[in-house]
Amino acid sequence: MIQNKSIIITGASSGIGAAAAKKLHQHGANLVLAARRKERLSQLQAELTGEGKVFVFEADVTSLENMQELAAFTLKTYGKIDVLFNNAGVMPLSYMKNKKIAEWYQMIDVNIKGVLNGFAAVSDHMLERNEGHVITTSSDAAHKVFPGSAVYSGTKHAVHAIMQGLKMEMAHTNIRFTAISPGAVATELTDSITDQDILDNMKEGMPFSPLDSENIADAVYYAVSQPLSVDVNEIVVRPNHQG
Ligand code: NDP
Repeated sequence: MIQNKSIIITGASSGIGAAAAKKLHQHGANLVLAARRKERLSQLQAELTGEGKVFVFEADVTSLENMQELAAFTLKTYGKIDVLFNNAGVMPLSYMKNKKIAEWYQMIDVNIKGVLNGFAAVSDHMLERNEGHVITTSSDAAHKVFPGSAVYSGTKHAVHAIMQGLKMEMAHTNIRFTAISPGAVATELTDSITDQDILDNMKEGMPFSPLDSENIADAVYYAVSQPLSVDVNEIVVRPNHQG
C-alpha cells in the first residue's frame, strides 16, 4: 500500500523520474516533484489529476541548501517524508583522453554529491521517526565499465557503495535503502554528450531496443509498495538482449 505515502522525487522533470511520478500518483501517493526546470515539473503536475496530492519544487541537487529546503517544504506540506527517490543524474559520456574535465566534475557533483545531499536533508527526520525509505537510481554502469563510461561508472559505483554503507549502518532501524540499476532506457539522458568521438560511435546504434521509463517506474513502485518487513536493496533491469 502506498496510498498517502509522502514521496520526494528528484529528477522528476523528465524520463525515469517523470514516469515514476505518474506510477506512484496512480497508486495514491502524495508527491513533491523536484528538478531545476520548473516549467517541465508544472506541466507534469497538470497531468496528474488523480487522488494523491502533487507539489513541485525547483531544486538543484548539487546544493545542500536546496535539498534542505526541499525536505523542509515536504515536511511542512505533508507532515512526514516516507520516501526520498534520489533519481537526478547526468551522463555526459566521454573518452578520458579528451579531458572533458568540467563534465567529469559535473557528474561527480550531481550523481554523487546530489545523492549525499538528498540523504543529509532527510536523515534526521527519518531517524527521529525511525521510518523511511531512500531509493537511488544507480545504473547498469555500476556493474560494468565500458569505453567512455569511466567517470559515469565511477559515480554509479560510488552510489552503490553509499547505499550499501547506509544499509549496513542503519540495519537496526526501519529506514530502508534501494538501489535501482537500469540498463539502457530511452530518455533525454544522452543529450548532454558532447564528446564527438562518442557521438560518432553512437551513430552505429544499439543491437537491442532500450527500455521505456515506465519499465523502471514499475521497479520503483515494487520497492515502495513492499511491507515494512521487506527491504529491497537492489534491482537490476536491463532490456532483453543488452549484454
Ligand atoms: P533524463 O535526462 O530524462 O532525466 C534526468 C533528470 O535529472 C532530469 O529530470 C533533470 O532535471 C535532473 N537533473 C539533472 N541535473 C540536476 C541537478 N543538478 N539538480 C536537479 N536535477 C537535476 O534521464 P533519465 O531519466 O534517464 O535519468 C534518471 C536517472 O537514471 C539518472 O540518475 C541516470 O543516471 C539514471 N540512469 C539512466 C539510464 C538510461 O539509459 N536512461 C540508465 C541507467 C541509469 P532538470 O534538468 O530539470 O534539473
